Amino acid sequence: MEDTIVLYPSPAVGHLISMVELGKLILTDHPFFSIKILITAPPYNAGSTAPYINSVSTTTPITFHHLPSVSLPLHSSSPHQEALAFEFLRLNNPNVHQALLSISQNSNIHAFIMDFFCTPALTVAADFKIPAYFFMTSGAGCLSSMLYFPTIHRTTTKSLKDLDTYIENPGIPPMMVADMPKTVHDRTDKAYECLLNISIQLPKSAGIIVNTFEALEARTIKAISDGLCVPDEPTPPVYCIGPLIAANDQTGGGECLTWLDSQPSQSVVFLCFGSLGLFSSEQLMEIAVGLERSGQRFLWVVRSPATEDKSRRFLAPPEPDLDALLPDGFLERTKDRGLVVKSWAPQVAVLNHDSVGGFVTHCGWNSVLEAVCAGVPMVAWPLYAEQRLNRVLLVEEMKLALPMKESEDGFVKAGEVEKRVKELMDSEEGNSVRKRTLSMKDAANAAMSCKSGSTRIALAKLVESWTLQGIGHLVSMVE
Ligand code: UDP
Repeated sequence: MEDTIVLYPSPAVGHLISMVELGKLILTDHPFFSIKILITAPPYNAGSTAPYINSVSTTTPITFHHLPSVSLPLHSSSPHQEALAFEFLRLNNPNVHQALLSISQNSNIHAFIMDFFCTPALTVAADFKIPAYFFMTSGAGCLSSMLYFPTIHRTTTKSLKDLDTYIENPGIPPMMVADMPKTVHDRTDKAYECLLNISIQLPKSAGIIVNTFEALEARTIKAISDGLCVPDEPTPPVYCIGPLIAANDQTGGGECLTWLDSQPSQSVVFLCFGSLGLFSSEQLMEIAVGLERSGQRFLWVVRSPATEDKSRRFLAPPEPDLDALLPDGFLERTKDRGLVVKSWAPQVAVLNHDSVGGFVTHCGWNSVLEAVCAGVPMVAWPLYAEQRLNRVLLVEEMKLALPMKESEDGFVKAGEVEKRVKELMDSEEGNSVRKRTLSMKDAANAAMSCKSGSTRIALAKLVESWTLQGIGHLVSMVE
């Protein structure tokens, strides 16, 4: 019988990568375990993750267990995609049950680690009496707000959007309701109910693993560990095991990297907005005008604007038509100092290139950690999910980013793009976030360093909690 850890990521590629990295780190320090990862079927996991999963399968001992497909309702009463994602994962519960049953034929499963989106599977792990852990793909700041959410819910009968006050979550700066994820603004929304349920379930796990490191979020981690976020019941152990980021894979990004080779050291600002970040055509025009006026060198990943066609919402957008989307003559006029790439760039390799000196990011947590590890300062331009909360943390708490300021409807004018890009690349404020980011890069390396780093110590404690239950302990089977 193998001694196995089962990981259950949610389908988004950003969530999958950090969980795979967790699996790799467990194998590095504790190679007697085998790692099995449950993969949900399309529509969420359509084509885009397949090449990545293939490459992990061929280059590491990690194995993937593909779940059969489930049919997803086409409509949800909630305007938020998250509500459909929760429903999709809830419908996968019987598949998870079957998978654990099948894996346990040849393995002793010591722990089941699930993405916080996969909360419905908590009951499946309980059926098998396997200790269940949550994995936070975002940071401790987001975890603080989630753990504290049931308390906020209980202390008011109003929706957050109707409260005229700052939200005070333990261990992070007070923030406006608009900076909290949209899914928690309206208590009549289905997505609100799902989020509240996840938040209530989090403390019922055997532990919470967070993709962060002590030095990055020390005050927040202390507030959580001191029990301030869950006043009415014990807070489970919190393991800060990060930064878990994708390896620096240089394949497939030839054009960007070759172009960067020809640019001066730390001169280029990189603009990239995650795996899902899409702008309207008007906003793309405005960014182009701002970049041109800034006079700075840039590498910009442009994707096609969002489609109104709901049946295509899970498909990757088509290749953008740059001539139609960008101002007349823009590419020609900026060709000596700018490169626009279509749809995708090898972000980790780009951020680690010596020519890159700044990053305009949508504040997805992987992107934040990748920038920190590369020592690249940021301009924070959040778009969806918990990214506005991350901007508050990056700007006010960590001081690793300058804020991009949008109007109330979310639109950012060319003048703001110009101002922030210049500020980041050439001002005292820009220099100050650059210095702090470089020292945080050192702290990230120290956290990951073999044996003595805070991350490796946290991982050792987590593994100890499994082995205390005894290697070879038998999983009790459920029909
Ligand atoms: N990414 C990339 N190239 C792109 C866009 C995204 O390599 O053109 C990667 C990025 O490096 C990160 C992930 O996709 O690892 C995006 O994760 P993040 O949490 O930042 O944002 P999400 O896509 O989940 O909103």
